[in-house]
Amino acid sequence: MSRYRGSVCRLCRREQLKLFLKGDRCYTDKCAVETKPNVPGQHGVARRRRKESEYGLQLREKQKVKRLYGLQEKQFRLTFSKAARQKGKTGANLLILLERRLDNIVYRMGFARSLAEARQLVRHCHILINGKKNNIPSALVKVEDAISVREKSQKIPLIKESLESAERKGLPSWLSIDAKSFSGRVVAFPKRDQITIPIQEQFIVELYSR
Ligand code: SF4
Repeated sequence: MSRYRGSVCRLCRREQLKLFLKGDRCYTDKCAVETKPNVPGQHGVARRRRKESEYGLQLREKQKVKRLYGLQEKQFRLTFSKAARQKGKTGANLLILLERRLDNIVYRMGFARSLAEARQLVRHCHILINGKKNNIPSALVKVEDAISVREKSQKIPLIKESLESAERKGLPSWLSIDAKSFSGRVVAFPKRDQITIPIQEQFIVELYSR
């Protein structure tokens, strides 16, 4: 299945949730979730009022998470299977695995304004893990890993601008960052209650248990 190339704001409007897919614009009053509150499409108003079925709720929750982390169905299912094999609650494990992806860490540390930009930085070899190049966006970081921007790449305006505007997003407490040296560290794995996105992950578990 090919990657979605349409308007990302449309995805937020479909989920009725700010997914922060468009960088700085998401923090302004131009955000489409606020300016166009209806679900997109011809029957958007009706869809918003309609009561979702149990299956519909489960599906919507899965779509939300997939879109938030920019994953395709196959990647998402593989991550879910990995989460199911781990000890503990599968739903929480799933979100923690997604948060540990290198592209997400680069975004959360503020080296990129959006997850899409972060993925591009990783793919183009601008990011190092413990001083070594890693161009795999789905690579999972470990505790104590040092994530940095390659020296040559530190001049890229996009990275500088992004670090300047990163304060608005706030840094999760399980990460640390030193903007001056373009580097950060994974202090700990996130706990479920540190992942503040409004997701009911048990719906996703129920969906895949059908
Ligand atoms: Fe979503 Fe950002 Fe577009 Fe708002 S501006 S609808 S948060 S992508």
